Amino acid sequence: MTSPAKPRPIIGGNWKMNTDHTSSLALAQAVAKTSSTVADKADVAIFPPFPYLLQISQALCAAGSKVMLGAQDLYIAEKGAFTGEISAAMLKDCGVRTVLVGHSERRHIIHEGDDLIAAKLDTALAAGLQVVLCVGETLHQREAGETDHITELQIERGLKHVKTEQLSHVVIAYEPVWAIGTGKTASPDDAQNAHNAIRAVVASMFDKPSAANLRIQYGGSVTAANAASIMSQPDVNGALVGGASLKPEDFAAIVNAAAAN
Ligand code: PEP
Repeated sequence: MTSPAKPRPIIGGNWKMNTDHTSSLALAQAVAKTSSTVADKADVAIFPPFPYLLQISQALCAAGSKVMLGAQDLYIAEKGAFTGEISAAMLKDCGVRTVLVGHSERRHIIHEGDDLIAAKLDTALAAGLQVVLCVGETLHQREAGETDHITELQIERGLKHVKTEQLSHVVIAYEPVWAIGTGKTASPDDAQNAHNAIRAVVASMFDKPSAANLRIQYGGSVTAANAASIMSQPDVNGALVGGASLKPEDFAAIVNAAAAN
């Protein structure tokens, strides 16, 4: 199933556990500046480390920027004895509007499972946050021909409590694990096939119009050089970018490529 008109692209910069007080502010200000020219064509989000969210929120606000502030994770409880965790209300208090759940580094390094990921997604939606649900297969699963089966399971489990009317607040990021931070990228055709299969799963869970409007980002070693060819695919609606999002010129080039699609 291919969407008739492409939904508005969304580009996310996932800074992971990088930057410091000074460099995070400078990077956010650079993204605000370079993204201002495409504000009517694409959504841009940045996902800084937790400690810098508030200062970046204030800087984006001072610049009148439309860049969405995002968080890399959240916890499912409202408050209380959960040492080290961050609630949706705390994120919103810091100006956060969107949040990643199920990033492969949380699935495979922190060992988060689908039930916790689904609960985090539900928590974020209930708090009025946009959610980016990250899915993707490992190299072993890909070589076994299981790519579509794995993404189907992750989506069915991640979205199991979501109602059709909430789907407009969900973005899916298809991120093959073997492509994240490795310099290896899915070919444009492979990305399109995976995105098309994901859209079909969402259509079967919800309905075709909702699936057609769903934004599915590609993630995995996206660079200024490969962004345009991947994002020109019919079912690719932007990118989730790790390494290249730390370089303002490269991230700006990726944002511009998204806006041109
Ligand atoms: C990511 O962190 O989601 C990611 C895709 O990283 P990279 O672009 O570095 O592969």
